[in-house]
Amino acid sequence: MKLELQKVEEWGLFKNTRRPFIVAGPCSAESEEQVFRTAYDLKCGGINVLRAGLWKPRTRPNCFEGVGEEGLPWLLRVRRELGMKISTEVANIHHVHEALKAGMDMLWIGARTSANPFAMQEIADALRGTDVTVLVKNPVNPDVDLWIGALERLNMAGLKKLGVVHRGFSAYGKHKYRNVPQWQLPIEIRRRYPDMLMLCDPSHIAGKREYVREIAQQAMDLGFDGLMIESHICPEMALSDAAQQLTPENVVKMLENLVIRDAHSENIEYRESIDELRARIDVIDGELLDLLALRMKISDEIGKYKKQNNITILQAGRWEKILEKVFAYGDKKGLDAEFLEKIFKAIHQASIDRQTNIMQEMEKGRPGE
Ligand code: PEP
Ligand code: MN
Repeated sequence: MKLELQKVEEWGLFKNTRRPFIVAGPCSAESEEQVFRTAYDLKCGGINVLRAGLWKPRTRPNCFEGVGEEGLPWLLRVRRELGMKISTEVANIHHVHEALKAGMDMLWIGARTSANPFAMQEIADALRGTDVTVLVKNPVNPDVDLWIGALERLNMAGLKKLGVVHRGFSAYGKHKYRNVPQWQLPIEIRRRYPDMLMLCDPSHIAGKREYVREIAQQAMDLGFDGLMIESHICPEMALSDAAQQLTPENVVKMLENLVIRDAHSENIEYRESIDELRARIDVIDGELLDLLALRMKISDEIGKYKKQNNITILQAGRWEKILEKVFAYGDKKGLDAEFLEKIFKAIHQASIDRQTNIMQEMEKGRPGE
């Protein structure tokens, strides 16, 4: 389904009309003073859109679950006195009604909610007829269609000011980051919807404040439109996500140090060189495809011989030897072993699949016999 989207420049939300668009603020609104002081310092640093969670979906019970609607007037004060735009997370109809009644400028859907089509449909129905801005965080599991499905439900309810927030994916076991980035998913979203606002939430990916900067930079390098960053006036005292929040001062410093690259350039010399390099890549891709096709043809021949001689398709010893050779030669050529393993596993699997097919076809007495 094609999404009908309104351009971010027309939303009237961000003061700047160029990348990066920034949303920052505490994980949770905790007190009027904490919200106001955080917002004040962010505003002084040039940030115009505040985030603050009122209803907090926590993984385990008995954690701080947010102050709820009690915090709405605190956000309204920020807008009134500082002129910032205000946003919060909604996860059910009640939240939507309260947030709309208060006139929030923007809402976001959390990762645990975008993973649930029933919840998404209820939220979309509750938003029908409004033109509020909604950002949809990726679902906790790496499923592009589930993420897009959430956007489609909102779009079908008439919402056109839609954007996505990449916040990484849950994974079992220990990893450097709290949520695995799996950049290929937001890249796929960008491929399918090149005009949709795409922010990265480096705070929830990182889980620790010392990693926030490197993830933010990576997002900028990949051409994300902006960032949603968690910031608390006193991060150590935060009632939720204390380890990943930055002081407003550090958010501003980090943003000043980010290298922002342009998506395009008008520089003729640059365009000519990049065009030439891309032309060479296209030729090489063509050669790679020809070679792969040739390799598969030879695999097919091998499949036939194995069938005729009643030999198993999988030859563990031979596969070991291929990998050994690949790693040794790849190392000489400066190619990463993990990368080679992925590619050759995929090639080997495709080859086995084709041989299996051939054996089955021959068993049925069709080609080759
Ligand atoms: C949040 O933004 O504080 C939050 C709960 O995020 P997520 O839905 O990404 O876990
Ligand atoms: Mn949080």
